[in-house]
Amino acid sequence: MYTIVLDAGHQSIPNADTGCSGFGIHEEDIVLDICKRAKSLIELNNIKVIMTRDGTKVNGDGSSLNASLNTRCKIANDNKVDLFLSCHCDAFNSQAYGTTCHIFGTGGNSERFAKILSPLMGKLFYNRGIKVSNFQVLRNTEYKVGDKTISIPAVLLETAFLDNKDDNAKLADPNARQEIAINIAKSICVYFFGVDYVYKDNNISTIQTINNNNQGSEFKMDCCIVYFSSADYSSALILSNLNKSCAMFCRNASPSVNSYALKSKKIIVVGGPKLNVSGEIYLSGNLASDTLIAVSNYLQG
Ligand SMILES: [Zn+2]
Repeated sequence: MYTIVLDAGHQSIPNADTGCSGFGIHEEDIVLDICKRAKSLIELNNIKVIMTRDGTKVNGDGSSLNASLNTRCKIANDNKVDLFLSCHCDAFNSQAYGTTCHIFGTGGNSERFAKILSPLMGKLFYNRGIKVSNFQVLRNTEYKVGDKTISIPAVLLETAFLDNKDDNAKLADPNARQEIAINIAKSICVYFFGVDYVYKDNNISTIQTINNNNQGSEFKMDCCIVYFSSADYSSALILSNLNKSCAMFCRNASPSVNSYALKSKKIIVVGGPKLNVSGEIYLSGNLASDTLIAVSNYLQG
């Protein structure tokens, strides 16, 4: 199972790493909301998400700007996470606008991830592209294995400009923040699994339904597809399209299956071993081609 850190930039503590503001809204609140939304969506894809803060203050020493930044890096480093994404809002002279991805250096997985995220964010805002920046959370996200230093792929996303009227209007809109969260989740799925988002693009209402029911545990989806790996994605997508509002989950060869999937009224397993849950429709074979045949036989009834 992959683990990532979502870092909602800044804190709501005076003189200790506060963010920018514009038109009555504050960076630290906007980015926390986006990160919380993204967390739910990402976790639906069997990826573990660690937040650097869940409330006004960073989860650790946040007594100063420096302490706050160190804590953010430490959370990622101690957990040896697979990816670090820091979320921010930009501000400059009220005229500048658009979205920017910052990385510490080119050529590695940070850039590979930024190249997935940047065009998706560019669908929502003018795309200012990928910039190389010497930011502490990009530079100091690393851990040691023996005497080897492992760099955690890290991107700092400046979603858009809070002091620009048009960008601000979008950041202030919960629907637009949900779109940002969806694009963050999509980019992370593409980065890890090499397949497009495991939820159908046209299925946003289902995603929101699940989110709305996140607090109560009794919510059940009508149908979901649990597919084993990217090799089974096409077959899974065909089945998903035949079942209205049907979510898709990638197992990614992991023995644990998403808890929402297990609660679904009808579960179609595509590839991999049986789940051994009631109502399971099991379509699988030794090879991806065998799975495809099982799906085709099922579709022919
Ligand atoms: Zn910031």
